[in-house]
Amino acid sequence: MELNVLKDMFIQEYGEGEVEVYFSPGRVNLIGEHIDYNGGYVFPGALTIGIYGMVREREDNIIRLRSKNASGEIIVNLQEDIRYDEKDDWGNYPKGVIKKIKELGYNVNGLDILFYSNLPDGAGLSSSAAIEVLTAYILLHKNKGEDVDRVEIAKMCQEVENKFVGVNCGIMDQFAVALGRENNAILLDCASLYYEYVPFDLKDASLVIMNTNKRRELSESKYNERRAECDKALEIIRTHREVENLCQADVKDLDYIEDEVIKKRARHAITENIRVKDAVRVLREGDIEAFSKLLIESHKSLKDDYEVTGLHLDTIVEEALKVKGCLGARMTGAGFGGCAIAVVKNEVVDEFIKEVSKNYKEKTGIEAAFYVSKIGDGVKYMGRC
Ligand code: ADP
Ligand code: MG
Repeated sequence: MELNVLKDMFIQEYGEGEVEVYFSPGRVNLIGEHIDYNGGYVFPGALTIGIYGMVREREDNIIRLRSKNASGEIIVNLQEDIRYDEKDDWGNYPKGVIKKIKELGYNVNGLDILFYSNLPDGAGLSSSAAIEVLTAYILLHKNKGEDVDRVEIAKMCQEVENKFVGVNCGIMDQFAVALGRENNAILLDCASLYYEYVPFDLKDASLVIMNTNKRRELSESKYNERRAECDKALEIIRTHREVENLCQADVKDLDYIEDEVIKKRARHAITENIRVKDAVRVLREGDIEAFSKLLIESHKSLKDDYEVTGLHLDTIVEEALKVKGCLGARMTGAGFGGCAIAVVKNEVVDEFIKEVSKNYKEKTGIEAAFYVSKIGDGVKYMGRC
């Protein structure tokens, strides 16, 4: 987006003067689903769509928060205790971050902030992490310039989402948003925070994000159920041999598990972690077809063994794979709605979107949305205008 368009937006809200602009991306997990809590790897990348933050300093101790995408103005008095308030709705995300940064001893001054997003919220592309990391970056950038510790930002924002907002998420989202790098995906072990960048080049193909526009119902209760099932699988395997976590177990270890459901859950965790490593290897070799096939296998495993897809995700992936030139597709995120991704040859992208959109609507009655995105940088300062 052009800086002057963003500046005009800000001026309409808060009046004439200089404006500073920041950007925080959404994220997508390419492969490695539902295994972070089993000691496995995730493989996310930051997107080129996200949330812009326009900022101007104030003379007093007030932070005003407004969003082009949501109603209400939230006033934060920096001299008072900052508390979660249901009435503040979306404002609780930035409020929690302001509170945390003050607690860490940073100097926080009065600001007018306007958010503007071209990222769908609630779709599993992590707009919540984007707004948290954006707020943290704005406040820390005002203290330390570019010399901010991005891993620290990810950690503090996860803590805000867990403890202040009350959503039990892992660190992947905040990590990808804070540490994203253009044209690179991040291979990340969420437990140890070991990570490495892997060049992401689809050659003559594009990454298409397909939003089912189906809200992620059930995902929280099923998430807890799956975690418990995986714990059970690990417990059984450990009565036979020592393994640190479920992803470290071997496919052969599945023979120890009698219960068919527990066995399927474990099979997903073990094979998905292998697929992540394979995906990184073939991507490094530039084999986009092999990478895409792993996406298809990942979806199948999430559908049949882990059972977290549902009609909408299955339909959109099935319809995507029917289009010639679509090399691979899978659900991404927690499942039960939200988004899927597809790797599509550049020359058929427009036709792909038209075709999948039509067929998905016919089968589900819902209008899907499509975004062609590159892997972009993490949160950044865009400049003063
Ligand atoms: P996801 O992170 O997958 O997009 P969440 O339910 O975790 O979904 O977070 C979505 C919430 O984040 C929204 O309901 C809203 O409270 C907040 N949010 C996201 N984007 C914006 C925005 N541009 N302006 C205001 N609030 C936003
Ligand atoms: Mg979220």
